[in-house]
Amino acid sequence: MTVESATPTSKVVLITGASSGIGEATARRLAASGHRVFLGARRTGLIAAVAKDIEAAGGVAGHHALDVTDRESMGAFVRAARDRYGRIDVLVNNAGVMPLSMLEALKVDEWDLMIDVNLRGVLYGIAAVLPLMREQGSGHIVNVASVSGHRVDPTAAVYSATKFAVRAVSEGLRQESRDVRVTVITPGLVSSELTDGITDSGVRGAVEGMMEIAIPASAVGEAIAYAVGQPADVDVSEMVIRPTAQG
Ligand code: NDP
Repeated sequence: MTVESATPTSKVVLITGASSGIGEATARRLAASGHRVFLGARRTGLIAAVAKDIEAAGGVAGHHALDVTDRESMGAFVRAARDRYGRIDVLVNNAGVMPLSMLEALKVDEWDLMIDVNLRGVLYGIAAVLPLMREQGSGHIVNVASVSGHRVDPTAAVYSATKFAVRAVSEGLRQESRDVRVTVITPGLVSSELTDGITDSGVRGAVEGMMEIAIPASAVGEAIAYAVGQPADVDVSEMVIRPTAQG
């Protein structure tokens, strides 16, 4: 086991879905603050390139292949981070998909995918780190939900259901925890690759039109950095970050 140490304020932060968008921006932002980051995603070439970039800029970053829908893969990701850094302070459950469509289109495989990535993936992340955090007597789980976790719109029924569920799980975990902090991050419209997964061309066009007011992913990374940076006895329970122009 090789353990990389750093300054006392430097935390070990695992980020799922760090190959693009909010996850990538969060990794870069946290590393720039001196945190030691560990990036996971399926597109391993992209996470390797982001980690290399971070290290070239003087940061500390590792990476490991991760499919959040596979419990074994999540376990291997967390073990690799612990082997490298010796502990785990923060898990950012960020990986997500959003193939929006009307229910009547019966894109049942896409419903399953959203449940598997957006909900089951978050639960697998919690299951993989919670025993370690309890053992340490400290830790922080940051779950990326959405404003769609507060409201439901046509085409977003299943996506909203997964994000409502993420907020429910987070609140339950918060109430059960006295040593592990829990934060829900609730983004509004953010520029990323998320709309690429919409297979209904009409819905995709409409959503891409709405994205004209989207804010950069770095705005969400900034909010996550704030929550991570608070002292152990301060729990930032939820933050909503959305475009000023978003209704
Ligand atoms: P992106 O599509 O840019 O990023 C999604 C990330 O999730 C990618 O890194 C992707 O990596 C990863 N991912 C998808 N499936 C899996 C999987 N099975 N296993 C591991 N990683 C996976 O979108 P965003 O950055 O926008 O999305 C990040 C989070 O923010 C999501 O939870 C999304 O729901 C949420 N959100 C986004 C909003 C927006 O407007 N952009 C608004 C509200 C919430 P890879 O494909 O390499 O595996």
